[in-house]
Amino acid sequence: MLISIVVPCFDEEEILERFHVRVTDEMARLGHEFQLVYVDDGSGDATLEILERLAAADPRARYLSFSRNFGKEAAMLAGLQHAEGDAVVIMDADLQHPPELIGRMLEEHAGGHDQVIARRTRKGDRVTRTVAARAYYWLINRLVDVELVDGVGDFRLLSRRTVDALLGLTEYNRFSKGLFSWVGFRTTTFSYENATREQGRSAWTFGKLLNYGLDGLLSFNNKPLRAALHLGLLLLSVALAYAAWIVGVAMVRGVDTPGYVTLLVVVTALAGVQMVMVGVVGEYVGRIYYEVKRRPHFLVKASNIATPQQPHPPQELVRR
Ligand code: UDP
Ligand code: MG
Repeated sequence: MLISIVVPCFDEEEILERFHVRVTDEMARLGHEFQLVYVDDGSGDATLEILERLAAADPRARYLSFSRNFGKEAAMLAGLQHAEGDAVVIMDADLQHPPELIGRMLEEHAGGHDQVIARRTRKGDRVTRTVAARAYYWLINRLVDVELVDGVGDFRLLSRRTVDALLGLTEYNRFSKGLFSWVGFRTTTFSYENATREQGRSAWTFGKLLNYGLDGLLSFNNKPLRAALHLGLLLLSVALAYAAWIVGVAMVRGVDTPGYVTLLVVVTALAGVQMVMVGVVGEYVGRIYYEVKRRPHFLVKASNIATPQQPHPPQELVRR
């Protein structure tokens, strides 16, 4: 059985060599045949040079390098496309995903599980981030169809059929947490204690996280559209009731003094609500716009893989 280990790397020059040693040592200890698929996501540092060196010294290391930064989602997709293993482990290059857990994953996989998820505890995270994450997961699980769990990330083992299923999902806006959950199959989860980053710093800024959260919300269903519709109907009925009340009062007590403040509040509030709704619709239109362009998810600049697959979706999936 061949195990592929997919590693997205973005500016990881400080830790990459250490990562490689740790993983190869662990795999040697486990005695499994394996290959490493490094994906350099348009790093600005020496990541690519290090990968070239690693690959020259170790035939089990393959790499591909993007023409620019396409994001971790694209890097994972590329890694999965180029992984030949019977099972694939996805892990970060920053050693926050302990290689010692691969053995446990393989055991669970041997026990018949297609997805083995390592769920991290939030130990060592900043309080603000923990609280934001809790609130986000509480909210999002009420809004989307698939189940998303706090602490469950991309560190997981996938069976071959799971990988093939994922590769069949060719959407441009990829939200892996949702995609993994969407494909299903036999899934199991175990927890591990969170390790803080050893070197460098997280590329996630607050803005990036916020947008990632919105992606998760919007890329899975049309519930936000439905919510906008409900809100519109609610406001319409409130407005109608208010109008009826005003007419009633005017008939009983005669015409009142004009409600200047009421008018202003209603107009601005409705304008705000309308902007939000247009924004929600706009988000979906924007997504459709990106999907119909059918651009590749990434472009490869360099690779040591003999027959690089096309970055485009498989031809049979591009129906006219
Ligand atoms: N990464 C990537 N492209 C990006 C950002 C990150 O390939 O645009 C990689 C990064 O090299 C690392 C993994 O994704 O291996 C997780 O990134 P990071 O450690 O910054 O995220 P965090 O651990 O804070 O979630
Ligand atoms: Mg990290």
